[in-house]
This record gives sequence, structure tokens and C-alpha cells, in this order.
Amino acid sequence: MSPTDKSEELFARAQAVVPGGVNSPVRAFGAVGGTPRFMVSGQGPYITDADGNRYVDLVCSWGPMILGHRHPAVVSAVEEAVAHGFSYGTATPGEVELAEEIVGRVAPVDRLRLVSSGTEATMSAVRLARGFTGRSKVVKFAGCYHGHVDALLASAGSGVVTFGLPDTPGVTGASAADTIVLPYNSVEAVEEAFASSEIACVITEACPANMGVVPPAPGFNQFLRDITARNGALLIIDEVLTGFRVSSAGWYGLDPVDADLMTFGKVMGGGLPAAAFGGRADVMAYLAPAGPVYQAGTLSGNPLACAAGLATLRNLDAPAYERVDAAASAVGRAASEALSAAGVPHRLQTAGSLFSIFFTDGPVTNFDQARTQNTAAFTAFFHAMLDQGVYLPPSAYEAWFLSASHDDEALNRIADALPAAAKAAAEVSG
Ligand SMILES: *Cc1c(COP(=O)(O)O)cnc(C)c1O
Repeated sequence: MSPTDKSEELFARAQAVVPGGVNSPVRAFGAVGGTPRFMVSGQGPYITDADGNRYVDLVCSWGPMILGHRHPAVVSAVEEAVAHGFSYGTATPGEVELAEEIVGRVAPVDRLRLVSSGTEATMSAVRLARGFTGRSKVVKFAGCYHGHVDALLASAGSGVVTFGLPDTPGVTGASAADTIVLPYNSVEAVEEAFASSEIACVITEACPANMGVVPPAPGFNQFLRDITARNGALLIIDEVLTGFRVSSAGWYGLDPVDADLMTFGKVMGGGLPAAAFGGRADVMAYLAPAGPVYQAGTLSGNPLACAAGLATLRNLDAPAYERVDAAASAVGRAASEALSAAGVPHRLQTAGSLFSIFFTDGPVTNFDQARTQNTAAFTAFFHAMLDQGVYLPPSAYEAWFLSASHDDEALNRIADALPAAAKAAAEVSG
């Protein structure tokens, strides 16, 4: 009996019926090797796999579980919604409440449309920006991930770089040709692009966290605001990851730059599929049925997802954010100290409660620098943590996610695991 028998068996069965055995690539452990763990339950900061192994969770479903797993208020909100019915294909009261909650928090959002995934949100926002401006070209930054939208997959950070896919077959030259990919944080590159092309929109992560955490240089988001406005282009700020995680108003609460359009996901669904895009009333008025730009969804604004999202947002009070912030800074600091003590070159990058550890010693302000990492050192570190019951993101290019439920016991378990993991990384980097 190995402690991963059941996950191994499930992975073998999965590979016979699901490409690569998983429904989203990073779950396959391709970058770190070994058997992906099949999870069966979660409680607070812990998740348990099919073999009964329990882990401190530092993925938190890639962000949504910011209150921890099975938070009582979220569980009862969903149970109550289930008791009423699942989906009607009509308007429902919960959608109005969720939209009001978000519009009330994020000043640039006058109108909001609910969708089911962050990918749908960015895809629809780009379509709307093109429809509104009558222009085609989209500027995005290398290392920023905006979901698997054809036009936005070029140089898209974690998921794509983890698998070393330079470009994705199936994205046509025509859809890639209207995308201009620029180095992140480069004012000169953006100025040159505007000097030589007519641009519909610039899309950027509010604070990039899908190539590891790479904060915008001070004033960079405001610079994007100003140059798009001067040139008749729209600014789309993607807060799918940062929204309602780093503050009650997301990154906007820390760096209040007025985008024309914004996208949300992850936390706002509380672990069920809900996402959104929204922004200026005159731009959103271009959207069907108010305007000519088509966009729709059978399950958009699903009652169960709205209930989970609302309960999550409403329970994220100031003390909850304080706990997330404190847990994130404690784990980031402890990991960095353990790696320093073991002599492993690394860099801790933080932005609000977001952080990641780069296994490289230079500063990381863009994707090329992020790619100087020693991924072998990360792999050794990852497996040593996993063996000791700590579930890290299975890629060196991801942020680590904490929740308000990460209490002293969970943080101590992480702290206890770090020295051996740092030593394992040191053996590889030496
Ligand atoms: C996760 C993410 C997306 C895609 O959201 P999905 O729900 O996975 O489609 C888009 N943008 C950013 C910044 C993200 O982190």
C-alpha cells in the first residue's frame, strides 16, 4: 500500500477518458511530476485526498475559497438556494443583489453583466471594447493571463509556460494578428504601440499574479489609463484574481485607477462558477439587449453560484481581510527565511496579500525575468512540502493563496514543513 494508491488509480482511469487525465492542465502535475492528488473534501484551511491524506491548502481553488472550505455561512446560503431550485433560464433576484454588491464596491463599475468563468468575462469585455470603438487591435502584456481566449493566449503566463507551449495550435493567425504582446511594465513599449497602431483596448491584470506575482511599477496602471484615454482606446483591468481578494474593492481599493471595463471571477463565485465584466454605463449600453454587441449564457447568473458569491462577499469583513493579510505575510516571510537559511537563491515578491516566491535572485518586473527561475529547485521544494502535508500550487509560476481560515495551527504546520523543503531545494540548486 502506498499513501497515494487511490489517486494513482483514479489518475489512470481519468487518463483513459479525459485528455491528460485532468480538466485544467496545471492540475496534472506536469511541471513537478508525480501523481496528482484527487481531492474529496475540504474544511477550513485543509483539503483531504482520496487516500485520506490531509493537506494545508495553499491553492484555495486558485483563489475562490478565501473564507476557507465549507464556511458555515456559505454552506447555508447554498443549501437554502438548493432548496428553492437550481436554474430557470430567467432573471432571478440573486443576480440583482450580486450586481448591486459589486457595483457598490468598485467605483468604475456602473453596470455589470454576470457570466460563468473569468475566460468568458475577458472574452466578452474585449468583444465589447472592439464593438464600442470600431477598432480591432488589442494590447496585452507578456506573462499576463486572461483565461483561454484565443486572442489573449499569446505569452499568457503560468498555465502556458508551465507546459512550455510557445503558441497554442488552434489559435489562427488571424486572431493572433490583432493581438499586440508587449513586455510588462514597459512604458516605452506601450508608447511605441500607440504611435504605430490604432488600438481598440489595452487589457492588463490589475496586479499580475499568473507569472508569479509581478506588481505594476508605481504609476503604471495610471499611465495605461492616460494613454488609452488620449488615443480613444479603452482600458480593461482584469481583476479576476485580485478582485475582492486584496481588499473589499479588490486591487482598485489599493490602486484606484478608473478603467473603462473590469473583469471579475474567482472570489465573487465563492467556489461556484460565477464571474462578471462591467464598467462605464455608456460602454456597457452597447451590450445586447440594450445595444448591438451580442453576449449571452444559459447558466449566467446561476442562482446557486450567486448565493455562494453573495455569502462569500458579505462575510468578507475587515477582520477577515486582516486574517488573510496576516496569514499571507507570515507564510511568505517564513518561506523566504527557510530558503535563506538553506542558501537557496530566491526572491519573495508581495503585493497586498498576494505573494509568490521566485527561485531566482534578480528582481522580477516582467515575464522574461520570471523565466530565469530554477524550476528544478521549485520541484524539489514542492514535493518535500507535499510529503509533509502542505499543498502548494504545482508550478513555480503561481501565486500562493491563503484564506481567512488559515489559523495558527495551519500556519505552524506550514512553518514546520519549510526547513526540510528548503534543504531539498538547496540540494538541487547547489
Ligand atoms: C483565473 C484568471 C482568468 C480566467 O478565469 P477562469 O474562470 O479560469 O476562466 C482570467 N484572468 C485572470 C487574471 C485570472 O487569474
